[in-house]
Amino acid sequence: MSKMQRKIAVVAGGAGFVGSHLCDLLLSENVDVICIDNFRTGRARNLAHLQREPRFDLIEADVINALPTRLGRLHIDTVFNLACAASPPHYQADPEHTLLTCVLGTRNLLRLAEAVGARFVQASTSEIYGDPEIHPQVETYWGNVNPTGPRACYDEGKRAAETLTFDYARMGRVDVRVARIFNTYGPRMRADDGRIVSNAITQALGDRPITVYGDGTQTRSFCYVEDLVDGLLRLGACEAPPDGPINLGNPAELTIAKLVGQVIALTGSRSSIVYCPLPVDDPRRRRPSIARANKLLGWSPRIPLSTGLESTIAWFASEQQHIPVVNAP
Ligand code: NAD
Ligand code: UDP
Repeated sequence: MSKMQRKIAVVAGGAGFVGSHLCDLLLSENVDVICIDNFRTGRARNLAHLQREPRFDLIEADVINALPTRLGRLHIDTVFNLACAASPPHYQADPEHTLLTCVLGTRNLLRLAEAVGARFVQASTSEIYGDPEIHPQVETYWGNVNPTGPRACYDEGKRAAETLTFDYARMGRVDVRVARIFNTYGPRMRADDGRIVSNAITQALGDRPITVYGDGTQTRSFCYVEDLVDGLLRLGACEAPPDGPINLGNPAELTIAKLVGQVIALTGSRSSIVYCPLPVDDPRRRRPSIARANKLLGWSPRIPLSTGLESTIAWFASEQQHIPVVNAP
């Protein structure tokens, strides 16, 4: 490649919450971006500010189908695969599409990476650990996933996507990286995506009852999106292929009840709490071990929960996205 040649990244799922932040970060690092998205859960408004950006290109397509042949003629450096609905109500709404996105979509994007000699970065998930028996979750843990439950289209889909990704690497076909992403939050989450952070904030801003599923003692560890995309970028840039997947998440673990308490305090809301049934197969606890990310990428999250929540709350308030309450499962 000539020295003058610009770097190009493909971001599949780039119109989504995480993907749109990754597009922004890549552009700010002087990398041209081609986003591929079918807009199932992604939104044009997440990319509206890039409409006149000459270094940004948007292809509306479903990665389950054959990708546009013109992509195979480009000097693409990295293919980031973030295409897949991530919130449980959304990925369960069309489980067949979710599973096929993970398997066929990943294969199509791996084949693209192979054809153009690009590096491939797969957005995997902490869900591959299921309801974990090992705590905190280390990358060597194989997980505890129900293969037939309502979350399986996503969990097993993402596990199969990892399998395929590492098979392509073993066969010497593609240089791959796999990030196991833990719960991430921040501006551009959909108000209606049903996740705890978006639900609690929109409910609190509207002084409506906050829905806590189960008794609220289950735990999660929440990473601010800016930290997360910094980790993805570092993983994509890491020259030596890591020996296996890498967790990316914030190890600060707290109960859902505590999170809701923080949201109420930060919004000054008059919301009450309404307890609803716990969804099937809802993991009891989750916290990443990020020792590998720290060692191999020099990465660790910087933004504390209170700071991240404040900017997320400010964003939701400015968006006036106080749309109808998401009901209990
Ligand atoms: P999101 O739903 O906001 O974004 C996913 C994007 O992929 C959307 O723009 C959607 O339209 C697009 N998409 C879905 N199926 C597609 C298909 N078949 N073809 C083309 N585009 C398709 O979700 P997100 O929170 O931004 O998650 C992005 C990625 O990160 C996902 O792969 C998800 O599994 C992973 N991840 C996210 C989290 C999190 O907490 N947000 C945690 C773990 C893993
Ligand atoms: N949750 C909740 N109320 C809500 C939405 C979610 O109590 O309105 C719970 C959910 O059951 C889970 C946790 O919050 O225990 C995190 O859920 P989320 O959907 O954000 O992420 P995931 O289940 O994928 O970790």
